[in-house]
Amino acid sequence: MLKLFKTILKAGTPVAKYPFAPYEVNHDFRGKPEYNADQCIACAACTKACPANALIMETDLASGTRRWEISMARCIFCGRCEEVCPTRAITLSPTFELAVTNKADLYEEASFPLAACGECGDYFAPERLVSLVQDTLKQSATPLPEHDRLQLCPACKRRRSMLAQENLFISRDLQPADQGENA
Ligand code: SF4
Ligand code: SF4
Repeated sequence: MLKLFKTILKAGTPVAKYPFAPYEVNHDFRGKPEYNADQCIACAACTKACPANALIMETDLASGTRRWEISMARCIFCGRCEEVCPTRAITLSPTFELAVTNKADLYEEASFPLAACGECGDYFAPERLVSLVQDTLKQSATPLPEHDRLQLCPACKRRRSMLAQENLFISRDLQPADQGENA
């Protein structure tokens, strides 16, 4: 025992007093991803970039919602989500103490409404994403495309573009939605 105390005295004060004092991490330390749902536009970029499948996004076209979820148990703190997020809705924090007593605390989720197409009514993209594109175009100096085209699903956009072309033979399939249905 005496030998142990002698060794401790010889070693002196430890560099880090953790866990009796907070542990200072480097400024670029990659800890727990912090998610801000208010900033998220539900673009799904982070879920595609995540190599550990810690992030998932599910789109329900019937109810018009998109669900985002993170599982801290799967996260490997690589930082890819932070790199690709266009709105900084997810960033890696200095937090490294992740132990929980309830497994449910390892999950975080958010739900987002989808925008319905102005022509056919199908849900096609998150409302926030459509609004962001609209606002960005408004603020830019470039000429705007027809504004209501941003409210159309890809299929209706294609249909409208093809109908707008001169000298195009309009078949039954390319007629506007309302005419096509009555034909
Ligand atoms: S830090 Fe890496 S593993 Fe963790 S959620 Fe982000 S992309 Fe996925
Ligand atoms: S990349 Fe950012 S904005 Fe897009 S879904 Fe992920 S957290 Fe949300």
